[in-house]
Amino acid sequence: MEKPLYPSSVMRITQGYNEGTHRDSFAIDDAGADTSISKIKAPFTGIIKKIYQQDANEVWLESTDKVLYPDGTIDYMTILFAHANDVSNLFVGKKINKNEEFYSEGTKGLSSGNHCHFECAQGKFTGSGWHQNASGYWSINNGKKPEDCLWINDSIKILDNHNYNFKKIEPEILEEPVKDEPLQPPTPSTDEQSSSSPVPSTNEQSPASPIPPTTESTPAAPTQNNKQSSTPDTDLKLIFQCPKTALYGIYLKANEQLYLKK
Ligand SMILES: [Zn+2]
Repeated sequence: MEKPLYPSSVMRITQGYNEGTHRDSFAIDDAGADTSISKIKAPFTGIIKKIYQQDANEVWLESTDKVLYPDGTIDYMTILFAHANDVSNLFVGKKINKNEEFYSEGTKGLSSGNHCHFECAQGKFTGSGWHQNASGYWSINNGKKPEDCLWINDSIKILDNHNYNFKKIEPEILEEPVKDEPLQPPTPSTDEQSSSSPVPSTNEQSPASPIPPTTESTPAAPTQNNKQSSTPDTDLKLIFQCPKTALYGIYLKANEQLYLKK
């Protein structure tokens, strides 16, 4: 599930929500790295639902699927972008990929300098996409705080976050090569000869075992001096299959044995 990402690679919020022309809305302005025109990336994979060229070239982008909000909400998301000088490359129904630089800062409409005005909303595009709020400004329907909608990551340079606490996407799994070393078994002791052994040797004689007798001597575990290491594959119970090469943490109880099977 996608995590909507802040749409500018440099965060410099020049006007927050409920301030000035953003009164009674959750709109913010981002002016990017400098006064030049920066590209605006799609926070999620979406569809253009509306373009309003009579004002500030407002564009509504609706997510194609439900997304994961930083506050834990799982729902569709719609975002209104404004002020691009040229939207001739866009049309209603156009699919936009996540991170695609589909929009730009600009000065179209009420704007004193190049920036992008955007407003996040929970759910799909509804009605005409916006409404006139109590202060007389046109605002997206079902608006929601940007920091409750958008994530950041290490690729986004933050010059001014306007004291909004955006949640960072942490790397999901530390990608490190798995060392090709044999597993060290628990210290061989008399415990392993006891009846409490998790791998009773009588299992090898079980008629239910589908494995031919000739394979019973194949060591399944990379142990070196454990007399009971000749466990047939069928005695290994699959606990977990790695979906990809990575480091994994598991919980083991005392005296439990762990076997790896390639
Ligand atoms: Zn604005």
